[in-house]
Amino acid sequence: MFGAIEAGGTKFVCGVGTGPNDLITAVFPTTTPEDTIPKVVEFFSGGHGSRVRSVGIGSFGPVDLHIGSPMYGFITSTPKPGWANFGLRSSIEQALGVPVAFDTDGNAALLGEARWGAARGLTDALYLTVGTGIGGGSLADGHVLHGLVHPEMGHLRIPHDLGRDPFPGICPYHGDCLEGLACGPAIEARWHCAGRDLPDSHPAWPLEAHYLALGLVNLTLTVSPQRIILGGGVMHASHLFPFIRREFADLLKGYIRHNRVTVELDSFIVPPELGSRSGVLGAIVLAERALESRAA
Ligand code: ZN
Repeated sequence: MFGAIEAGGTKFVCGVGTGPNDLITAVFPTTTPEDTIPKVVEFFSGGHGSRVRSVGIGSFGPVDLHIGSPMYGFITSTPKPGWANFGLRSSIEQALGVPVAFDTDGNAALLGEARWGAARGLTDALYLTVGTGIGGGSLADGHVLHGLVHPEMGHLRIPHDLGRDPFPGICPYHGDCLEGLACGPAIEARWHCAGRDLPDSHPAWPLEAHYLALGLVNLTLTVSPQRIILGGGVMHASHLFPFIRREFADLLKGYIRHNRVTVELDSFIVPPELGSRSGVLGAIVLAERALESRAA
């Protein structure tokens, strides 16, 4: 049995199991580490959790992913009270006494989709989550990309036509970066209505599709994925997908000549096959790796 934690800014999804057909989950709200972590530890300490041999964590961030760094497995600079400079990985490892692997939430979701979902069999794929924030992961030549710190795809700078959309954006760092213009709270702040309550015909959706397509074109031109998976709460609005594909094609203007981005565009930009479980299942993949690297 493996343990999995998808640590998000609003909730922790914890799971015990080996894959999509064998996974028991529990959800705890993300309040403060002093309140949330003991609940997580209790979940893994009793019942099914007591057979867990290793744990994987996909975490909100920014985080430190560098094994050997004194801050490895820490959430670093989040504005979320109590979580900045918090050693998430070490707190779980010390409490449970099993190996713990750690990555970003975007990378974990991508690993889940690569193992059991929409990126199965691919060597290069992109996962973008559009929800409370925007984040993502990139699979390049079979490996998730870390880099200097880790990719921060939500903060791409994209063209912002103030005539069409005078909304200044909500990113505390950049204002009108991709996340600042297109995450769930940005939709709500711009239209004074949560995305889930906006009708399909609302002008919010073509604008949202435009911003996401701008981001996806930049990412496609940079990392050249074989498929793009769009998850997160905002993407539950499934009517967004055709809008995004159309905008994506309009913006690329036929520059990339490959069937996957032309005649097969419907299967190039897709929802996750694992639904909202990509992240927690990806954390299972991380847990497997924690055990393998311990054995090696
Ligand atoms: Zn930003």
